[in-house]
Amino acid sequence: MNVIRRENPTFPDRIVGEVNETSVADVDPIVQRSHAAFKEWSGLSLEQRCQVLADAADLVTPELYDQIATLMCAEVGKPLPDSRGEAMYSVSLLRFNIAQASKVLADHVIDDEAGKLVRTRVAFGVVLAITPWNAPIVLSMLKVAPALVAGNSIIVKPSPQAPLAVTLLLETIAAGLPDGVLQVVHGGPEAGDAFVTHPLVRKIAFTGGDVVARHIGVSAARMITPTVMELGGNDAAIFLEDALLDDAAFDRIALATFMMGGQVCMASKRIYVHRGAYDDFVAGFIAACKRSVIIGDPMIEGVTVGPVVSRAAQERLEKLVSDSIAAGGEVIEVGTVIDEEVVANGYFVRPRVVLNLTDEAQLVCEEQFGPLVPIQAYDDIEEVIARANATELGLAASVWSADEDRAFEIAKRIESGFVFINTHNRTGMTPRAPFGGVKKSGFGREYGDEGLLDYTQNVSLHAPAAYRPGGSGGSANAYPGTS
Ligand code: NAD
Repeated sequence: MNVIRRENPTFPDRIVGEVNETSVADVDPIVQRSHAAFKEWSGLSLEQRCQVLADAADLVTPELYDQIATLMCAEVGKPLPDSRGEAMYSVSLLRFNIAQASKVLADHVIDDEAGKLVRTRVAFGVVLAITPWNAPIVLSMLKVAPALVAGNSIIVKPSPQAPLAVTLLLETIAAGLPDGVLQVVHGGPEAGDAFVTHPLVRKIAFTGGDVVARHIGVSAARMITPTVMELGGNDAAIFLEDALLDDAAFDRIALATFMMGGQVCMASKRIYVHRGAYDDFVAGFIAACKRSVIIGDPMIEGVTVGPVVSRAAQERLEKLVSDSIAAGGEVIEVGTVIDEEVVANGYFVRPRVVLNLTDEAQLVCEEQFGPLVPIQAYDDIEEVIARANATELGLAASVWSADEDRAFEIAKRIESGFVFINTHNRTGMTPRAPFGGVKKSGFGREYGDEGLLDYTQNVSLHAPAAYRPGGSGGSANAYPGTS
């Protein structure tokens, strides 16, 4: 059996752990087991499933959160408190889905002079979740929680670049569920392809980059398997002239940009500031980075930014820096490095802001997925809205203004699936707000009621009035509503 070894990006000569790679030959038995589990699981009432899931969530103890956090911190370089926070937040999302289930999944019944219509929600069957490395637990739980609450079974394939913490958490929860309801598998494209094209996989939930998304999308289309696609973004953060820019606001935008080394789908990736406020903004942003963007070993208390995920990512980002300089950008290193030796030897990319770029520069018009951010000046609001929308991506954005009504009006005109007001990234999230992209950032939603509904299909049960007991009978070939 092949194993997948995960190196520590902070200390690349250390191996954090390993998992067994799922072979292509194992795929069919795993899916069959999932399918058998689905039959039993979907036969339970919603209340029964929710109770089993709530009990399973209780298996995640404070000690386990510590273990999970240590693993995630080591395997992807996410600072320890953020890693613990991600695990705790994920279990809270499971509880959120349990709490909203009876309301969101309730039958809708209309019984009137037109007839009786019952609209009910049914599960798909076996769901396949394919997830990335940057938030391995939360991005898995956003699929696991709604899928299981709704009565599906689920197979999760995490990224080989972050397989350890998510496996520990999900296998702990799986131990409290009937056999096969929740399985975790490992592997890259080969195993992935075999799962994606299995005929008993009824829905695929993918979070990741567009290259893999297109590949999976083609295979899924051949199988007529529906997908949810949560892809990348190139979030514009737009600061209006009247934005309230105290230290707290600057700290929010600095961390919204650089937390997790900028490797967050909804990080602020392009900052637009009114020309009149530009110089003050740049100074305030740099000062905030010095205070709050603390770079070093992510296990050390106080560090807020660790390494990037791999040597390949480090090299890609350093090339993006030199390309930005060649494109006329003024590059300024920001933040505070607390351990030069660690930073020099791990896969670190020093956070940088880049000024004086045009919107055609690669750093502005493509997703950088790293700790580099362009700060762009604009002159009027119509112009900045057009520039924010001049991208094929549309995941998230933010509008910052003291005038909340105006900020909401402008937010409506931004082509993205989520617009934060006066904040950006994690601090702007709420479990009750559906999240997902427009344009090439994907389709389908996670979080909120839609995030649960997406794991069910509507089934309509209809008794037309004319043919109900005592009804008029009506014509045998009538078009509805025409007589
Ligand atoms: P990726 O697309 O390289 O990989 C995602 C997953 O797909 C991994 O588990 C990988 O092993 C798997 N995979 C690769 N080839 C496959 C195949 N042929 N069949 C099946 N599975 C296959 O993405 P990544 O580098 O892990 O993550 C970074 C990207 O994810 C960025 O673009 C980021 O913006 C995006 N992202 C989006 C969201 C969101 O919610 N919209 C959240 C986080 C990350």
